[in-house]
Amino acid sequence: MRLIFMNFQASALLLLLVPVIGCRARVPYRGSARVLIEATTHEPGLRDYRGLLQIHSEHSADSQGTREEIVEAARSVGADFVVITDHDNRNAEPWAGQQGDVLLMVGEELTLPDGHVLVVGPGPRKLTALPESGSSKWLVALSHPFRTRHPWTGWDQSAAITHMEVYNLGSDLQESRGDLIFSALSYLLAPHFTLRALMDRPRAALDRWDELLTHRMVVGLGGLDLHRRWYQAYLPAARMVSTHVLAPEKDPDAILQALIQGRCYIAFESEGESPGFDFVVRSHGRRLEMGTTAAWHPALEWECQVPWDAEVHLYHNGVRLQVLDCEAGRHCQGVAAPGAYRLEVFRNGRLAILSNPIRVMAEPSEDSNRRP
Ligand SMILES: [Zn+2]
Repeated sequence: MRLIFMNFQASALLLLLVPVIGCRARVPYRGSARVLIEATTHEPGLRDYRGLLQIHSEHSADSQGTREEIVEAARSVGADFVVITDHDNRNAEPWAGQQGDVLLMVGEELTLPDGHVLVVGPGPRKLTALPESGSSKWLVALSHPFRTRHPWTGWDQSAAITHMEVYNLGSDLQESRGDLIFSALSYLLAPHFTLRALMDRPRAALDRWDELLTHRMVVGLGGLDLHRRWYQAYLPAARMVSTHVLAPEKDPDAILQALIQGRCYIAFESEGESPGFDFVVRSHGRRLEMGTTAAWHPALEWECQVPWDAEVHLYHNGVRLQVLDCEAGRHCQGVAAPGAYRLEVFRNGRLAILSNPIRVMAEPSEDSNRRP
């Protein structure tokens, strides 16, 4: 039997108590918000595709996963696409393409002097530092920037940071302190319960993200950082978190563009299947999707929809502005002032969805387009 516990540490106390993620305290409503009853749809032509980011295959020295194992894991959790990012190589490139129901995309996790970055695009791309400006063809994202081992240390290059893993499952599990033997035993008995108990709201990454967002658009991604080792399989961890993109079709270019443009959100699928989540700003009847920077005007409104009854925390410039009880399938909506908006969605007190931001600028700027 293959032993499949993760190489994390966890405490017995932690497992017994099952940590509740996030703060449940209510803050008073500020600004206006209301609930509408009509159903929503994404922008015409956009569909929601669930993806598994940062999977390591047998082409990483610390992983033995084959193409078949990756495809089977993705298929069994209902993922539409997988982004394989092996350490400093793209040797999995011949696997790229549709494999049954699952689209395999191949990028690379590059080791730079300042830390690790995920690079996905057309062919290999060697970097020694972050590119000076964003690219329309390449996704360049900080990988596990807050891991104790191999953290990102190049925060002084903040102008070059356009994408970052706001959540990394591998980091979250490894950083959980406590009793390895207890958590391993717990994992063998109840793997999903154990992993879920070890997952936490990524506070340090969210604080840094909010800080960066006051200056520019930075897209947040949720990475799994999954390796297959003799003691560790892709499942059940692949069930826990995914990045959903809103794209016109399940095509590598369309999905890559959605990731680059920030038309995506992080779903902690351990808390419930998430298709149906929506967060937009409405401007003169137009929908502006996540990842957009929009010019402010008085009639601007933000709007969201959740797939199940949830508590929606609206962040504005890093400050939690409102906590709203949203019913499944209904719109929650409010007036949007200038600033950076993002949502944290809690289900039964646990973090279930992190939206990408929408920035509203007081004055039109050269940033006023969909590009991050
Ligand atoms: Zn790494």
